[in-house]
Amino acid sequence: MAYSSPSQEPHEPHQAPLVPGLFTTAAPIKDSLVTDTSLSQNAVETSCRAFLAGTQDGIRVNRHGIPSLGRERHIRFLDKSLGNLPPAFKAADASRPWIFYWCLNGLVLLGADVSKYRDGLVATARSIQNESGGFGGGFGQQSHLATTYAMVLSLAIVGGEAAYQVIDRRAMWKWLCTLKEPTGAFRLTLGGEIDLPLDLPYDSSSHTPERLDLFTGLADYVRRCQTFEGGISARPGAEAHGAYAFCALGCLAILDAPHRIFPRYLDMPRLISWLSSRQYAPEGGLSGRTNKLVDGCYSHWVGGCWPLIEAAIHGPTISTSIETPSSAAGDLYSREGLIRYILCCGQDQTKRGGMRDKPYQPSDAYHTCYVLSGLSSAQHVTRILSSDGDGIMPPWTYEVLSHLDEAQVYNEEDRVSPTDPVYGIPEGKRKDIMSYFSSRPGF
Ligand SMILES: [Zn+2]
Repeated sequence: MAYSSPSQEPHEPHQAPLVPGLFTTAAPIKDSLVTDTSLSQNAVETSCRAFLAGTQDGIRVNRHGIPSLGRERHIRFLDKSLGNLPPAFKAADASRPWIFYWCLNGLVLLGADVSKYRDGLVATARSIQNESGGFGGGFGQQSHLATTYAMVLSLAIVGGEAAYQVIDRRAMWKWLCTLKEPTGAFRLTLGGEIDLPLDLPYDSSSHTPERLDLFTGLADYVRRCQTFEGGISARPGAEAHGAYAFCALGCLAILDAPHRIFPRYLDMPRLISWLSSRQYAPEGGLSGRTNKLVDGCYSHWVGGCWPLIEAAIHGPTISTSIETPSSAAGDLYSREGLIRYILCCGQDQTKRGGMRDKPYQPSDAYHTCYVLSGLSSAQHVTRILSSDGDGIMPPWTYEVLSHLDEAQVYNEEDRVSPTDPVYGIPEGKRKDIMSYFSSRPGF
């Protein structure tokens, strides 16, 4: 049977949209103890149900009760966020690279061309780069691992030699070594380049004659961050949190292929149980911690864990590049629920555009990036491909294909671009930057 998206059929205004009761009915089990938490939960549920029903005034929906993606409005919102920001944003001066990453990544997910931002990004990147090789958050600021990470991702997104040449790998490597802790962790965040020489220099506090490297103890540190709930925390003994779950899986996936390294270091059934508990009904969206509310940004932090876990369970495969319809039966979470939350509750439907945490919250660049990333992972399937590897490029890679479901509820034109499951940048951008650096002699 030829594949066709049923959602393309027009919705007659006089017919009630087809929204399953799961997304319109109050949750059957309520906590009888009234607290601020239970009151907030009830309020969010009520506001989400109103948007999920597909009957909001002024919002056109398809026959499944889902509005279309306001692509042009969201692109305008991100373009504007890359320009001069109002004075209220001065507190965000230390997060400039993150604003670049959120906007550029969101724009590419929406299908926009970001090459016009390359020259401006290169100039700004050089002006906030320190001699250490790291990047500060703004002009004259100290290098920070998180903003350095965001800057490298932004340069990878705009791509091209001029952007790649900004990165001083030798200096940055030395700086990364100084951040390495004897516990195996890094002082600020998890991550690292897979194609760098691994020996620690003598002036690193972690240097020992046993030739430790940047990755020594890292996977064990991640193992110690898995909590009794099964989720992953910022440090051993802290509370499991969605953002750390994604960072931890990304870290492990950099060290080795997910199907090998995840089960070696993590209690997978417990992790899957905790991740599954992050999706709520009727909202359909994801929360970041136990007893917290759904929030659009966890569409990525938690939703982005599923492609890696599903790929790990499926195991390595041979590239087919053939996209065939699949049913929801093989999914570990409700793609439909997440997509409904994102398109019904996560969009600012006014002229302003952009994506948001939840109904009645203002849109912002951070949520626009991560809500769209979550939409992308819900609309695609990730598989691990074994490749030859050459000592620099790892011997496995990923294939990201459209997830085609005969029960698809969103309009096909609202499919966003595929995203790299580990780095959260547009698919193919990682390969481009790694190929560039692996072709350079020396270091
Ligand atoms: Zn959020």
